Amino acid sequence: MLSVEEAIEQILARIVPVETERVDLMAALGRVLAEPVVSRRVIPPWPNSSMDGYALRAADAQAPGAAFRVVARIAAGAVPSRRIGPGEAARIFTGAPMPPGADSVIPQEDVEADGDRVVIARPVKPGDFVRPAGEDVRTGDRVLEPGRVVGPPEIGMLATLGYPWVQVFRRPRVAILSTGDELAELGSEPGGGQIPNTNSYTLMAQVIETGCEPLNLGVARDRREDIETRLGWGRSADVLLSSAGVSVGEYDFVKEAFEALGATLHLWKVSMRPGKPITFGSLNGRPVFGLPGNPVSAMVTYELFVRPALRKMAGHARLTRPSVQAEAVAPIPNPGARRGYLRVTLTPHNGGYGARLTGEQGSSILKSMVLADGLAVVPPDTTIETGAPVEVILLR
Ligand code: AMP
Ligand code: MG
Repeated sequence: MLSVEEAIEQILARIVPVETERVDLMAALGRVLAEPVVSRRVIPPWPNSSMDGYALRAADAQAPGAAFRVVARIAAGAVPSRRIGPGEAARIFTGAPMPPGADSVIPQEDVEADGDRVVIARPVKPGDFVRPAGEDVRTGDRVLEPGRVVGPPEIGMLATLGYPWVQVFRRPRVAILSTGDELAELGSEPGGGQIPNTNSYTLMAQVIETGCEPLNLGVARDRREDIETRLGWGRSADVLLSSAGVSVGEYDFVKEAFEALGATLHLWKVSMRPGKPITFGSLNGRPVFGLPGNPVSAMVTYELFVRPALRKMAGHARLTRPSVQAEAVAPIPNPGARRGYLRVTLTPHNGGYGARLTGEQGSSILKSMVLADGLAVVPPDTTIETGAPVEVILLR
């Protein structure tokens, strides 16, 4: 049996990022940056006032009661030229450039103004309320690294630096196939012996949440030809993802179908619960995954194996979910010889997180997945006792 780490390593070794494309700035939101962003600007471009007040020379403003003559008025957007000399001040507004000669600003609340004469109520230090040029960004600064997701702050930085467009990774396309004679499609009431198709929808949702584009190949019957035909519809996808039909049961034709299409496959028994068998391989250079059929097994194996692979493909620098150290607030048992990825809630506890099982941990119990904030990682044949630490992978 493979360990989870060995399986992830073998998968990632075979994944390469997709191509990149240039998109308009706003189309880059949520996308993965494909180039470093190096500033060709100085931000702010010149020293400016951070308050409405008076620009002056701190050397003249060492004592309360010092008086100044107001010789200029500088609003945001103005270009000051009048030099501020000894005993002089300029009326200045937030964001306006500092006039030559002045080195500090006193806020308007701290002066008595009378016509073009102001008297300061407190001493001023050089640099007070002045935002220096380049305080934020200097020319040549490497401000964003490739592999980073573009969010609102990155959009703001790119706009500030004058990027109307940006190079990002294309979103990988992932074709998703469900298999099983028992599956009733959404929109039809399950008949005798049938169950609703869950996996197509959880997997499409997971793929979207990973930042990729799902392509729904529907439900294949447990016949090799049907599986093959539908997998063929996924030709334009970068990744093929199927669920169920991968054990060694009499109705498990997924492996055969993939192989008939020319795929090389590995059927791995991975030491984990839920989800033991997963299939991984490649078909014409594209990665293919055959996940287990039970809905929670499919979701958890997606989380552990498919998501990092898709993130690598999509150009992300960070491939895995963050995890936290929590404290068990009730025993978390993991009987059996496989590592457990157990569904838990996290609540504030002793200054950190408290972890508690969400309920029944069967691999078809969707409700305990719905309730879960994360997956507690528990070694084989181990019970995490109340008060003991446990690692929890954050799912949300
Ligand atoms: P299998 O690997 O085909 O033996 O499937 C394992 C279990 O998962 C069976 O109980 C199937 O009914 C169930 N299952 C398979 N595919 C789906 C699906 N798309 N949605 C919900 N349950 C499924
Ligand atoms: Mg089946």
